[in-house]
Amino acid sequence: MQNLLNDIDNVLLMGPGPSCVPPEVYQALSKPTLGHLDPYFISIMDGIKEKLRVLLNTRNELTIPLSGTGSAGMEACFVNLVEPGDKVLVLVNGVFATRMVDVAQRLGAEVDALEFQWGTPVIPQQVAEQLKNNSYAIVAVVHAETSTGVRNPVEEIGALLKGSDTLFLVDTVTSLGGIDVRADDWGIDALYSGSQKCLSCPPGLAPATFSNRAFDKIKNRATKVPNWYLDISLIAGYWEGSKRAYHHTAPINMLYGLYQALVLIEQEGKDAAFARHAQMHAKLVQGLEELGVEMLVDKPYRLPMLNSIHIPSAVSDEAASRARLRSEFKIEIGAGLGPLAGKIWRLGLMGYTAREENIRRLLNALKVILE
Ligand SMILES: *Cc1c(COP(=O)(O)O)cnc(C)c1O
Repeated sequence: MQNLLNDIDNVLLMGPGPSCVPPEVYQALSKPTLGHLDPYFISIMDGIKEKLRVLLNTRNELTIPLSGTGSAGMEACFVNLVEPGDKVLVLVNGVFATRMVDVAQRLGAEVDALEFQWGTPVIPQQVAEQLKNNSYAIVAVVHAETSTGVRNPVEEIGALLKGSDTLFLVDTVTSLGGIDVRADDWGIDALYSGSQKCLSCPPGLAPATFSNRAFDKIKNRATKVPNWYLDISLIAGYWEGSKRAYHHTAPINMLYGLYQALVLIEQEGKDAAFARHAQMHAKLVQGLEELGVEMLVDKPYRLPMLNSIHIPSAVSDEAASRARLRSEFKIEIGAGLGPLAGKIWRLGLMGYTAREENIRRLLNALKVILE
């Protein structure tokens, strides 16, 4: 009998996620499955919460991984915090913020999208102008916009909201584990991430945190959260307190994987991990420039873990070149999305992918492709 799993290629994942998974995480995934209310498993859950708080720089009690990918994290933040008629401001400069607009509109929010050119960052002065003339229940932004490779000034935007009643909602799917995320210092009320980008765990979990202010809004809602699976108050009953209540069966082995991924970051030291991302980014950019390849994003706004490049003029069929990278060199890179489709490639240096040998391998392959 044929088993398709026997023939999976060992592909170097250098796209916008998933990223390469370290052997320790694969080993963790294969440990014996425990019951979801097993006392030993609960101690692992508590370990994950504690390690996430350290990585997120938060004291929020409600800091937990949600079952589902990064998009489940996005959905959870909006579905719990938005009440019909709420005014929501989304700062849009890429695909993922565009999705936020869609998610918030589906929940009956009155959404303003403040648009910035893709490939450039959100401009805090323009946000300040918008806030002068409007009051919002929620302001939402993407920290690391994976569709373009831009880092948005989350700290500056958070500072604009200090002292107001507006909740600050931030997507850190691609940033977490690769650059610093400071939930409390930056005034973030709700934040979500994903396991398969700089945390280098397979896809399937969405770390999230909610401030007390955010949790108060959820507890005082006039209407029920219109989604049972992602209702944070129900999920909190499983993740918090001395007596845990069943909500849904936690993805036990995925949580082992996340725990191990967080242990690896702790062992390396999070600042050392961020420094490694920055160093590998500098090496990649240097190598690309030597090949005559140009970056999409201006230097001060570039993300280390997601490098968008203009498709070199030597490439006549970009999809065919990517297919060749995958089949001949066993390297996956990312295509452009939305208005950048066919214009850029996205080269990921996320988590375990961000190592010198991988950069050399990609640059050597690109050299051949460009000949
Ligand atoms: C990948 C990503 C998401 C979506 O995560 P999924 O795991 O694909 O559901 C959301 N936001 C950003 C910035 C991302 O990079």
